[in-house]
Amino acid sequence: MTAPALPAAVAEALVARHGELAAISEPGPGVTRLFATPEHLKALERLRAWMDQAGMTTRVDAAGNLIGRWAADPAAGEAAKVLLVGSHHDTVRQGGRYDGAMGVLVAIACVEALAAAGTRLPYHLDVVCFSDEEGTRYGTSMMGSRALAGGFDEAVLDWPDADGVTMRDAMTAAGFEPDAIADCRYDPARLLGYVEAHIEQGPVLEAENLPVGVVTAIAVGSRHRLTVTGTAGHAGTVPMDRRRDALAAAAEMILAGEAVAAAGDGVVATTGKLEVAPGAINVIPGAVTFTVDLRAPDETRHDDAHAALVTALDAIASRRGVRVQMERIYRSAGCVMDPGLRAALARAVAEAGYPVRELFSGAGHDALSLHQVAPVGMLFVRCKDGVSHNPAEEVAAGDLVTAGEVLLSFLADFAPPTTG
Ligand SMILES: [Zn+2]
Repeated sequence: MTAPALPAAVAEALVARHGELAAISEPGPGVTRLFATPEHLKALERLRAWMDQAGMTTRVDAAGNLIGRWAADPAAGEAAKVLLVGSHHDTVRQGGRYDGAMGVLVAIACVEALAAAGTRLPYHLDVVCFSDEEGTRYGTSMMGSRALAGGFDEAVLDWPDADGVTMRDAMTAAGFEPDAIADCRYDPARLLGYVEAHIEQGPVLEAENLPVGVVTAIAVGSRHRLTVTGTAGHAGTVPMDRRRDALAAAAEMILAGEAVAAAGDGVVATTGKLEVAPGAINVIPGAVTFTVDLRAPDETRHDDAHAALVTALDAIASRRGVRVQMERIYRSAGCVMDPGLRAALARAVAEAGYPVRELFSGAGHDALSLHQVAPVGMLFVRCKDGVSHNPAEEVAAGDLVTAGEVLLSFLADFAPPTTG
């Protein structure tokens, strides 16, 4: 059996729509489309029109998620369950046109292909466009999918954006219903799973000359704030062997993080923020705070790397006579993709004529919230130079079509379990 092709008109529209959607943005370079803004509403309107045209039944839920249903074959009866497929419309500031949008557009293209062929599936296919995954406006993340999974934290409704507008007020102004978010939840017993196509945001597929890959897991991650305390002093009068330089110690600690990550399989560590006090050209730094973002493919590798880092930091601190404190400010448990969905996606990739490359995701995605209630699976799509969250983000037109065909093949073959 060969993979089904997208009809030419569907493939053409899939490519063109990325440009049309990217034009719905705040002014400036790249795409800036944030939660509960006029751009969000405009994008919903456009996406909804495409869903309607494809023959889906559409609705916008209380959290601002757009959902289009390609109803199950009537033969499936009342008991038909739901497979969610989609991604998010929102972006970081000055982001690209593929992160998020691609997963929604590819899913719509699949429904168009099914409609053109007159195919109904033995399950309801709900194409979802999540309202807020990046959390750019409110510093939340995966708000839309949390609402579907029933894991939305109502406390964030009172959070203000940079202009002091609370999420509740922004949602009300946009026509959403902050007080009815509990209604967005899908009954887990009705959910067959969640599948998302997303750009890789890394260089692996490109390096291996592959258009798509199957995701194994989303990284386990933690973020830490470190404070190194030494002694400030005169840059001219304190001899080198008498110093307790907090910045020189911190520099060594940052390199230790790099070394620990390099020694771990698939582990990455990043310091992206550093503050030096007192911060004068002629003063030995007395205190430094910096951050470490640590991610690994699984819990064991994460915790091993973390333990190795703590040991290295203590050794550096005692040798240099400084104090170091490490405070964890965030932890994500990550998630493992469902073996069944993973195998089914791999089969679809092979059917499209490509070697199956499995890879893990260092970035978080909506699957993190949905795996609490349903099996999840993800397909990664090659992007140019591994660049994302950047106006230069790019996916070749041919790869968009390949992603569509792989997803279509997956959907066409996906069979809901007969029991349970
Ligand atoms: Zn994304």
